[in-house]
Amino acid sequence: MAERGDSGAAAADGRRPVAPLHEVFCSVQGEGRFVGEGMVFVRVATCPIRCRYCDTPQAYTASREFVWEGGVEANPVRGDRAAELVMQVAANSAFGGQRPLRVSVTGGEPLVFPGFVLALGTALGCDARIHLETAALDAVALGVALPVLDHVSADYKLPGTLAADDGDPRAAHRNCLDVLRAAGSAGPTVDVKLVLTDDVAVHDLRLACADLAAGGDDWHQRLEIVLQPVTPTGGIARPVSAALVEAAARAATAHGLRYRVLPQVHKQLGMR
Ligand code: SF4
Repeated sequence: MAERGDSGAAAADGRRPVAPLHEVFCSVQGEGRFVGEGMVFVRVATCPIRCRYCDTPQAYTASREFVWEGGVEANPVRGDRAAELVMQVAANSAFGGQRPLRVSVTGGEPLVFPGFVLALGTALGCDARIHLETAALDAVALGVALPVLDHVSADYKLPGTLAADDGDPRAAHRNCLDVLRAAGSAGPTVDVKLVLTDDVAVHDLRLACADLAAGGDDWHQRLEIVLQPVTPTGGIARPVSAALVEAAARAATAHGLRYRVLPQVHKQLGMR
């Protein structure tokens, strides 16, 4: 397995407006409430954890260069330069013509480099809506990037879905949820993604839904829960049972949460 990102060093570095990337490309969104919409994806390279269901191990560590649909550039890249690449990629893609242009900053884990996310969003300004796809482990970093975010897709990693030495991330998730709640009605819309595998316990689903439900009407209006049956890949050999999907829906409903059950559509389309 590749070396994990040094999260301590990265945190010290994270406010700089640069990040190593893996790729910049245009495709359709395959997850969450914007599924099927054309977007430019900026995939950051580095991730401090190891999900058992991970489908992007190529983004665990940074290479000397990254690819975009037009060439190759050296890592790390500044946020304002990445913004220029985003606009070029959108202009040359079948999926880049919708307005507002939506830009998904994904990974890896983009919040290892919150200064980059802030710089990218600032440089794009009114030309784009910035979506952040994050493991939601670092509330301080989320707060740095927050001013430019229009939408956040935050993971809530359930026990059984992470490598054994990653510990329990739920306290970190709760801290990130607090940051998103505190943003109020002017804050980004929020999808919280629960990936369902057969190693997930119903008890843990209920606890997660209790964490997510805390908050007033404003929070519930901005929040959607994405119950994502796992795509068998990496360390996951089989699809999740229908019974667990039903249990997840019941847990969400019991806590007054809006949810949708949605697989990774881009995988079914054979797209990135
Ligand atoms: S946070 Fe994302 S990139 Fe990192 S291991 Fe999990 S799924 Fe893979």
